[in-house]
Formats: sequence, structure tokens, C-alpha cells
Amino acid sequence: MQFKDVIGQNSIKQRLIKSYSDNRMAHTQLFLGPEGSGTLPMALAFAQYVNCKNPSETDSCGVCPSCIKFQKNSHADIHFYFPNNTTNSVKKNPESVLLLNYWREYLKTCDNYAQSSEWFNFLGVGNKQGSINVRDAKNLIEKMSMKAYEAKYKIIIIWMAEKLNMDASNKLLKTLEEPPPNTLIILVAERYELIIPTVRSRAQLVKFNSIDIDSLISAMLKLKIEGDANLNIDDMARIANGNWNEALKLINETSLENEFFVPLRNWLRLCFAPKDYKALFSFNQEMSRLGREKQKSFLQYALTVIHFCVMVNVNNYQAVKLAGEEFDFVKKFSPFINEANQDKIYEIINEAIYHVERNAHGGILFTDLSFKLVNLMRQGRQKTQ
Ligand SMILES: [Zn+2]
Repeated sequence: MQFKDVIGQNSIKQRLIKSYSDNRMAHTQLFLGPEGSGTLPMALAFAQYVNCKNPSETDSCGVCPSCIKFQKNSHADIHFYFPNNTTNSVKKNPESVLLLNYWREYLKTCDNYAQSSEWFNFLGVGNKQGSINVRDAKNLIEKMSMKAYEAKYKIIIIWMAEKLNMDASNKLLKTLEEPPPNTLIILVAERYELIIPTVRSRAQLVKFNSIDIDSLISAMLKLKIEGDANLNIDDMARIANGNWNEALKLINETSLENEFFVPLRNWLRLCFAPKDYKALFSFNQEMSRLGREKQKSFLQYALTVIHFCVMVNVNNYQAVKLAGEEFDFVKKFSPFINEANQDKIYEIINEAIYHVERNAHGGILFTDLSFKLVNLMRQGRQKTQ
């Protein structure tokens, strides 16, 4: 990872580079910052920089043999420790070194912007969470005792240092206090108060804020998908609040159509112009075959779309978090959701959700709902004439 790929945080980049070129680099550092602020990417960029054969004043070269290995997170002199647990492949005595392949794969999926919930999902440990345990600490000490293979600095990265358990922390105190020469230990963490005080007091603190809004916007613009003219990057950046993972989620959510968009659009059209009762009945049948959770999600999505129609009617486009075809549909459909029917539509859909939760028969429920909606749509249409 190069500094140029770390979003924002320019003053930290400069400070790190200066500490290195002035020969004042602390050998144990704690990169502390909120999720999505780029603490791990910065640690990786710094590790690559201090080992680069040909660094500039602002970044590693990105092309020397050392950079190429660091770029893939596969250099023999970078050692990762992260929260772990038993998985399908590691059934007992888990430790980071046994899960390194997963870790590298995971980092690829998120461009090194790791977040713990996603990491645990990736590992498939579900709600078990994980810790950095005493086996990790032993392994780390062992790695420290060996010479670096080829790098100038041996790098140790402890990601989510707040997950170091008590045994591991105690075992590491001496190493953190006095690492062997030419070693750089970077602890990466989000929650200062959860790190054991004797651990955090041994590291030099580098504090990250959330990513500044201008850097976030320009990084989002680079990713902006062609044709999504309705995405409002400025708003999304504000909602993301300096968290790159959040920004990515927003970009993906608003550009990916809801799975129920097409069925909902068909249903609303059938109820709007009910010439084709056969098609309406077969829709009801199809819905009845979905499980209850899906029926509920469909109805909740219907409520959201109706709500967005109302928002369009009052010209509150900012509130309409849709893009592409969904957005077009809502704009076209919104005139027919009006004071003649909007309250009632909310009411019947909410009632339907209530009944789905209480095991109502799907076929009967959707047939009833469709008939009611046909009537209400007629009233909405008349209002516009
Ligand atoms: Zn290089």
C-alpha cells in the first residue's frame, strides 16, 4: 500500500515520513482512530515506505522488489496479528499465523480498510468474535528473535490491539517496551479505553480523526459509477461522516436495486390499471409462496417506496435515497400517491405486515391487499384528473 492510496490523513503521512527521515521514528506506535479512518492502510503504507529501496519525499516507489511484496501484504518480514477464533478450517487452538491466507484474502476485498465485523464475517466465525491470544504473543516473540530475511525493518502489525487478551498483553510487555533493533511494531486500534494501560503506555500514540470531507468526496468520485446521475456524493459523504467503509456501503446501496423493485413495480402497475386480473392473481400466488420473512421485506420495501413518492411530492428529493430505475419509477408514480389515498395505503400495508407476522395465509392476505390497493389507486388517479 502506498501513501497515495490512503484516503486523506495528509498531516499524519507527513509526520510519519518526517519522523523516519529525521531518524526519530518510535519503534512501537499505536495508530488509534475510528473505524474507516484508515489506520491499517496507513500502517501498511508506512511499513512499505520504511522498507522501500527508492522512496521519494512523499511516498514509496511502488515498483522496487520490496514494494511489490509489501503491496501484496506478502513480504516475509511483515507479520500480522489480528483477532481470531476457531473456524471450519482451524478447529482448535486458533492463532493468527494459521489464518494468514484468509487475512490476506480479506484485505484484498476491502483494499486494506479492514473492519472487525466484516473480518469476522469473512472468517465465518459469526457472533463468536475473537481475540488476540497468548499463542499469538508467543509467535510474535519468536518472530522477533529471528533476523529479518531481507527487509531493513521487520514489521509487526497488531490489528485491533484492543482485542489482545490479558495473557497475551502481559506476555508482550517487554517486547513492546524494547523491541529488537530495526523493528517497527504498529498497534492499530479503535478504542483507547479498551487497550490494557500497560500496553498503550508502551507505544507512541498516533491519533487519527475521521477522514476529512473533501478527501472523502474525491475518493468517492473516483468510484462513482457511470450513469448514476442521481447519486448525490456530497450528501453521501456527509452521511458517511469520515468513515470510508460507510461511504462504500452507501455507494453500493444506492446503486444496487432492491431485490423487490421489479416485483413491486409490476404489482403497483397491475393495481393502477387493473385490466389484467389474471396477472394480479398470479402475483398474489407468487407472493404467497415466499417465506414470511420475504413477504415482510417486500411489504416494508413497498412502504419505503410509497414514502419516497410522498417525499417527491413535497419536493424533498434529498430524502429519496434511490438511484437509476428505482428513482425514475418513483418520480413517475408519485403523482398518483396523494392526499386521496396516501394515509390509507400506509395503513393497509402496515396492517398486512402485522398479519404476516401473525402467520396470516399469504394468498388470502395478498389478494385482499391487492383489491384494496386497486380501489385506493383509483382514488389517487381521480384526484389527478
Ligand atoms: Zn519501493
